[in-house]
Amino acid sequence: MDTRPLIYDLSQPELAEQLRAWGQPSYRAAQIWDGLYKQLWARPEDFTNLSKDLRAKLGEHFSFSHLQPSITLHSTDKQTLKTLFKLPDGNAIETVLMRYDDRDGSQGRRTLCISTQAGCAMGCVFCATGQMGFRRNLTSGEILEQVLYFARQLKVEGERVTNIVLMGMGEPFHNYDASLAAIARLNDPDGFGLGNRHFTISTVGLIPAIKRYTTERHQMGLAISLHAADDELRASMLPVNNRYPIKDLIQACRDYVQTTGRRITFEWALINGVNDTPEQARKLAALLQGLNCHVNVIPLNPTRGYPGQRSTRERVAEFRSILEAAGISCTVRVRRGIDIQAGCGQLAESEGQQPIQISN
Ligand code: SF4
Repeated sequence: MDTRPLIYDLSQPELAEQLRAWGQPSYRAAQIWDGLYKQLWARPEDFTNLSKDLRAKLGEHFSFSHLQPSITLHSTDKQTLKTLFKLPDGNAIETVLMRYDDRDGSQGRRTLCISTQAGCAMGCVFCATGQMGFRRNLTSGEILEQVLYFARQLKVEGERVTNIVLMGMGEPFHNYDASLAAIARLNDPDGFGLGNRHFTISTVGLIPAIKRYTTERHQMGLAISLHAADDELRASMLPVNNRYPIKDLIQACRDYVQTTGRRITFEWALINGVNDTPEQARKLAALLQGLNCHVNVIPLNPTRGYPGQRSTRERVAEFRSILEAAGISCTVRVRRGIDIQAGCGQLAESEGQQPIQISN
């Protein structure tokens, strides 16, 4: 197993410190930073602006990749691409690229859904990653290497990553420091340069972390996976609700909106006959009254370990109209990549258990 530290785990001051310790002039750190995050160079050999000796030293001391792509699947419409990466310790994570082109065919958003943990400790019953259990936290470098991997691919096509959602495997707020450090590194205008507002962090509702995030006044988007409007139903779907009940969670969300002035998003996976009833829609509308928020409803991506099915078109429409009639802004999201098991954790969970179509 490769035990060298991952170069993307270093902040710029840490990289500068390392180079100083090697007796290098101070501008070397900026050169290497630029190579890693602007030029998107992936190997020490790519740094032709450095001496041969320094390139060799970098390669000797640092790993330039912890992510080994093992399976890549393209959706039939080619708009969604999912890669399963193997980590050096044998764990697997998934990353999804979603392309949203404009009507005239020009490049629209290129959104990456990235993982923050291998597995997840939250145990949401409908989620393939939750069914898998927790393996380990990713380091900040492993989180951001997912972005660099796809950014390099897009660059070849003359495109770039425009949005990043921390909504893949894992609960980002359960790996708070590494998730926020990865975003900060990707923000750096001297490097990757993707602004805060192009990021969305999704949490299942870890209230202490939401409070910390509020106090720190971050500018990234915040999305809460709500999925149910009363404690009994929510706890049956999301065990975290036993610890952090809805009333406290919504209060933390109100505090966030009031402190930051930012709108908050609620995610709702619609499950047929479970949380898509008019009663749940009305309860949700009552819960969110007066809150600057938006609700994304998305029909469930079915998983092997959960019998729930996605809602019918009619039930989705009814759910949405109840929210809108109550003045709650709501969007029905299109399910992307259903043919490539694009729901979080589905590929890692299924690997080796059923044949899957593998592309190049
Ligand atoms: S939905 Fe998110 S928080 Fe819940 S188990 Fe899956 S990965 Fe974890």
